[in-house]
Amino acid sequence: MSVPWPDNRRMAVCLTWDVDGESAMYVRAPDRARTLLSELHQRLYGPQIGIWRVLKLLQKYDLPGTFYVPGYTAEIHPELVHAIASAGHPLGLHGYLHEALETLDEGAELDTLRKSKAILNQLTGYEPRLYRAPSWELKRRTPELLVREGVLSDSSLMDDEAPYALETPAGPLIEIPIHWCLDDAEYWMHSRVNRDKSIEDPESVFRIWSGEFEGYYEEGGCYVLTLHPFVSGRPFMMATVERLIRFIQGFPGVWWTTMDEVTSHAARLCAEGRIPVRHSPPPTPYDSAQA
Ligand SMILES: [Zn+2]
Repeated sequence: MSVPWPDNRRMAVCLTWDVDGESAMYVRAPDRARTLLSELHQRLYGPQIGIWRVLKLLQKYDLPGTFYVPGYTAEIHPELVHAIASAGHPLGLHGYLHEALETLDEGAELDTLRKSKAILNQLTGYEPRLYRAPSWELKRRTPELLVREGVLSDSSLMDDEAPYALETPAGPLIEIPIHWCLDDAEYWMHSRVNRDKSIEDPESVFRIWSGEFEGYYEEGGCYVLTLHPFVSGRPFMMATVERLIRFIQGFPGVWWTTMDEVTSHAARLCAEGRIPVRHSPPPTPYDSAQA
């Protein structure tokens, strides 16, 4: 569903990166993380090489980006947080160790959120107000918890193509939807444990990304591309991202923006009753206390 965009623009485009670095390995495969270097170093490619290539690309086209950084990644690679912030790109929360929320009870989830907020706050001097759940997996209680902790938007759900207000008992949370088909990891993340998954031909990835873009352009949506420096920071994948940027630049009336600006814009529209309001959690056929 479309929403009114600033200056009568037709749609919004947000280029976003989840700067996971090594973090998720410690949660997803703790035994291998403890004993093996290889996959940790594959992911370290993001903080060491990929992120710098991403910042250079944004600078080359004078475009804004949005960066979701786990607290642990920020802690051990503070230089990348400083570089992102000093280039004027907003940072968002993305767990501490990229924890799967389903493994955390409410107290642990709250601790993780507060800890990662404090780390980004200390490094940037501002209070992060954007959130994206690790692996896009929100718990039923998470939207309310985010609102109570001062977070204004989430970007983890797939039920729309433009921002809307997700109602919670603590007030509305702006949801900026995403989708698997607009994520690099689905096509190009490849490791020892998923060697049967081939690395996708960039031509077909470009066809999917540009085809989705044309649909969003027609409908007036908010096109959110989700990338990872350790995945598409590699040369041939970055070339595909750059090709997409040049493709989108051929369309007039596009608002190249950040998730932070979309959040502020959607919050204003929400106050004026001009974006859809959805309810969270949705009705359940079972006792949600067990969820
Ligand atoms: Zn992530």
